[in-house]
This record gives sequence, structure tokens and C-alpha cells, in this order.
Amino acid sequence: MMDYHTHHVGSQGGYLCAVCREDWDRVAAACPPMIPCFGVHPWHAKDAPVAQTAYDLDEYLSRYPKAQVGESGLDATARYRESLGAQEVLLQVHLGAAFRHERMAHLHGAGAWGLLLERLRNREKKGTLPRVLLHAWNGAHELARDFLALGAIFSVGVRELSHPKASERYARIPADRLYAESDDQPENFPKAVALLCSLRRDIGAGK
Ligand SMILES: [Zn+2]
Repeated sequence: MMDYHTHHVGSQGGYLCAVCREDWDRVAAACPPMIPCFGVHPWHAKDAPVAQTAYDLDEYLSRYPKAQVGESGLDATARYRESLGAQEVLLQVHLGAAFRHERMAHLHGAGAWGLLLERLRNREKKGTLPRVLLHAWNGAHELARDFLALGAIFSVGVRELSHPKASERYARIPADRLYAESDDQPENFPKAVALLCSLRRDIGAGK
């Protein structure tokens, strides 16, 4: 099983997400075994020049046909809420590029899943929604159902899978839509895979 969301190169392969523009060449050079994803993390949104980022993203996606888009998304937690305006603009840049180049967009949504759902639904109505992966998914099942209806897939790591509500949150997401990730802690990947497998065994056993 490959790592569905990481910022580190690992032998198991997986989606290697950039966090800022300066990171894109490092990410591109790691292919294979990694699948590079170009983007600007919402934590860095306020420092990113929008027009230049849009231009560069188009160029990198044209140059690397196997690459995807990310990390992007929204973060409405206390520390990052004030940059939500800049995050929203960059999110649309990323989603637009992903749609035009037919790539998947890898999205972060801490404290902002509801807002993100609204933005994705707007694009679906206009017929401009790319495929999306929601990483570190920790929303309620009702919300997962809404994202599933938009074709989303999810990834979760040790933090999410160790939560007391993990089985309630993840039990009803189909196995082919929910994958393991390590994010910023590559050493955690085997444990994330093991936790996800045991969650599925428990569900299978009707626990
Ligand atoms: Zn990440």
C-alpha cells in the first residue's frame, strides 16, 4: 500500500505534496517512486503571489504529466483563520488547474470541512470540479457522505485513526475511498496502515 499523503520521500511510494513554491523542484525530482504534487499549503497562502503561482502551476503540470495538485485547501483553525481570504483565492487557483489538467487535488481542511464542501459543490454545479482527496479527514460521517457524493477520496493517519471516534467516523466510508497517510511523520506510516487494517477487521467482525 502506498502513502496517500506525505511530505517525505519513502520507499513505499505515494503522493508527495509540496508545501510552498520553493518545494516544487524537490518534489518533482522524487518521481519515481513518489507521485509529485505541486501546490501551496494554506498555511503559506498569505505569502504566495497569486498570479505567479497560477502561471507556475500550469507550467509544472504541463511539464510533469504524471504530477497532481497539492497541497492546497482551507484551514480555519485559530492560528490560520485570519488568512482565509488568501487561502480561498489560492484554493480556486489549485482547483482550476487540477480541473483543466485533469489531475487530482490534494486538500487540507482543518476546521473548514463545511466551507470546503460548499466550495467544491459550487464547482460541481458549474461542471469544473476536479477529482479531490481530503487528507487527515476527521469530519462527521454525514459530511463524509456529502463529500463521497462529489467523488472524493480520503486519507487518514495515526492521529485520526487513534481518535476515540475513529471507528464511528470511518466505518461507513467504502474501503476503496479511504487510505493511509503519514503526512509529516514518515515513521508513522506502517502504524497507520496497521490501524486502518484493524479498523476494517473490527467492522468486518461487526464490532
Ligand atoms: Zn500535509
